[in-house]
Amino acid sequence: MTVFGCRNCGTSLTVSVSRVALPVHADQKYGNGPGSFPPALEPGTFAVDPLPSGSPWRRWDELESGAAEALGWYAPRFGISAGPSGQVLLAPGDVHGAVIDPALVGDSGCCGLDGGEPNMVCTGCGTPVAVRIDDCGLQQAIWLDPLTTRVLDDGPGPHPLLEWADLIDQRPGIPPQEPDGFWHPMWAAAVASALAHLLAASGGDPVMIPDHRVAEVFRPTLDRLVGPAGPASAHTLDLAGPGLPDADGDLALIPVHPQTGEHWPVAAPVKPVPLAWDAWRHLAFHRVTKPAVRSVPIPPESLPAQLPGYRFEPDGRIFLSVLARLPEVRQPRLRAIYDRGRPYSYMYFTF
Ligand SMILES: [Zn+2]
Ligand SMILES: [Zn+2]
Repeated sequence: MTVFGCRNCGTSLTVSVSRVALPVHADQKYGNGPGSFPPALEPGTFAVDPLPSGSPWRRWDELESGAAEALGWYAPRFGISAGPSGQVLLAPGDVHGAVIDPALVGDSGCCGLDGGEPNMVCTGCGTPVAVRIDDCGLQQAIWLDPLTTRVLDDGPGPHPLLEWADLIDQRPGIPPQEPDGFWHPMWAAAVASALAHLLAASGGDPVMIPDHRVAEVFRPTLDRLVGPAGPASAHTLDLAGPGLPDADGDLALIPVHPQTGEHWPVAAPVKPVPLAWDAWRHLAFHRVTKPAVRSVPIPPESLPAQLPGYRFEPDGRIFLSVLARLPEVRQPRLRAIYDRGRPYSYMYFTF
């Protein structure tokens, strides 16, 4: 089991947890409430941010040559964290031994805590150990400060590691549509991230997408970014992954293992375009279930569309932050696409 504790006094701060990959929606801001979203992580799991986060912050134009790249950024940002790497994300219900200290809670939140500096202290010694987030439009989260916390006990937690084939059976993915008809926020985040990788892999060229379900999700935004694919387009994006044949095109939309963060391997020269498992699994395998009473086969073209009718807007903020972390963004065409988004990054896809 993995248990985290206070680096100063050794007080245990979490239940036993299993490591998972940091989801692309980990710090997503979505809509404007009311209230916060469910926790970014499943109970009993934790994820580690490998890149610097939190204060101190640096301004892009103050950084010396090469410094931004060393911090993981390849295109200008408002502020760049030069804080410690290795922040640990947890579901709030898995944290004990730490409490919110009202004296540390800033006033920048709307109706809750919006993060920033540590606002939770160890109950054993009072050291600030974590940031609690629960403001409107944000996912419930606790981030442990790597400078004041440490692993007390290291080992497999409550969730066994699943093979790709087990994932197919046990983790069916998330449908894009919520009961109210709106797109699930995870989809907005997952597709935004995949779009950034798709641009990097294609160099900003138009891309053919033969699979109509993949096209329905990616095509409208891709057309706005790089224009529609003509018959002579060199690039083709296919689904590839467990249970599917090898990709035919030169670009493959592949799943990211939700626990290890591993990408489904593809053989060169095929270039992988990673997509979060829960979206990939749904795109790749979700088929309309026939009503049990019907005995006449339904031709595929008469099946109702399963994707929502609302226009899909990938998360502009996540798109830009993923793109800025890919070295390919330094290519002039991609940099021009990136620069269209600033400074109103959250509205990137709405105009
Ligand atoms: Zn609010
Ligand atoms: Zn302590």
